[in-house]
Amino acid sequence: MLGVPVDCVDMDRALSAVDDMVAGDQPRTILAVNPEKVMKAQNDPVLSRALNDAGLLIPDGIGVVYAVRTLWGERIARVPGSELMPAICARAAERGYKVFLFGASREVNDQAVVKLRAQYPGIQIVGHHDGYVDEAGMPRLIEAIDMSGAQILFVALGSPKQELWMEKYLPRLHHVRVCQGVGGTFDVIAGRVRRAPALFRNANLEWFYRLITEPRRALRQVVLPQFTLAVFRAKLSSRP
Ligand code: UDP
Repeated sequence: MLGVPVDCVDMDRALSAVDDMVAGDQPRTILAVNPEKVMKAQNDPVLSRALNDAGLLIPDGIGVVYAVRTLWGERIARVPGSELMPAICARAAERGYKVFLFGASREVNDQAVVKLRAQYPGIQIVGHHDGYVDEAGMPRLIEAIDMSGAQILFVALGSPKQELWMEKYLPRLHHVRVCQGVGGTFDVIAGRVRRAPALFRNANLEWFYRLITEPRRALRQVVLPQFTLAVFRAKLSSRP
């Protein structure tokens, strides 16, 4: 949509794609598609390329689900990145995939590791690092990720920082096969940020809950009307 592809997968198919990627011989990315990112990609060629080169683009935002319905008449399910990450961790624990967590503050990162180890016994978290690393420190981090032998790398730097990081550094990693951009998910796992209660989630109003509980996001959501308008314009011009 609007130059950004989206894979119409459900959670099961997304997890099968992860298995295929782990068994493959190339590093692949998993990125979340939401209205904010689609609009940002209109003016950011590097983000646009990162999205177009991704191994899997999950329909993360409800806006994307509605846009797919409007443009293509397809009824697809939402696959939130914040649900896919724990599901990948469960699969990793089951199948012995090695995992690395990069991003968020040191405290949140440490806490997320503790929580995941408790929740998915046997999970091999072979390394982790906070997300506040300057360019000078990057070669050491890349070496640490490589040495850890991690096959799955979760990157939590927020968007578009994490997508740009992957575009630059993923080709330098030799063992990683799956790299998911997870935004603020470590904060949720660490218990610092609560996901919306089921009432909001079931009514497809998770975005509204985040808007009222994290007002700093209000500015970021001004793109929603622009996205809606652009989708309808594309529909009318029949060039989705
Ligand atoms: N973050 C980071 N390094 C940075 C900037 C941000 O590790 O240089 C982390 C930040 O601590 C937070 C996450 O990135 O854990 C961003 O979360 P946010 O909810 O803003 O991301 P979104 O899912 O909205 O893209």
